[in-house]
Amino acid sequence: MDNFNGELVDILKSTILSMKHGKGLGLAANQVGISKRFFAIDLSYFDVVKEPIIIVNPEIAEISGSMIGEEGCLSFPGLFQEIERPEKTIITGLDIDGKEIAVEGKGLMARVLLHEIDHLDGKMFIDHLSSFKRSMIKGKLKKIKAGEEI
Ligand code: ZN
Repeated sequence: MDNFNGELVDILKSTILSMKHGKGLGLAANQVGISKRFFAIDLSYFDVVKEPIIIVNPEIAEISGSMIGEEGCLSFPGLFQEIERPEKTIITGLDIDGKEIAVEGKGLMARVLLHEIDHLDGKMFIDHLSSFKRSMIKGKLKKIKAGEEI
């Protein structure tokens, strides 16, 4: 992933479209079967940032604080859970042109950034729930796995 050729840029752009199509706030490459390390976020619905942001090879540079808020995921349609996350984060990586960037997020934006990094590390948002809470939503998870509505 060191060279940003046209093919990669096309992949990045199509990921943004998939995310918008799913009405998600973010989408990680491995959620759409792309085994590269990048994600897209789009918080334009909330006016936090106007344009979708792509971060390639993202790393967490800073986290601070803590907050609890409702979270969902395109991989778990219809499921929303209260999840504790850091309140602020700074993520470094490369943008769609291969330039180094640092993206700062607070509140919802921090939540979405850290949720997407988790995906790239193979972690789902429900992994942040206590085992008790996870057992409470077992039935819903089964339905989602079976492709049923919850
Ligand atoms: Zn997700």
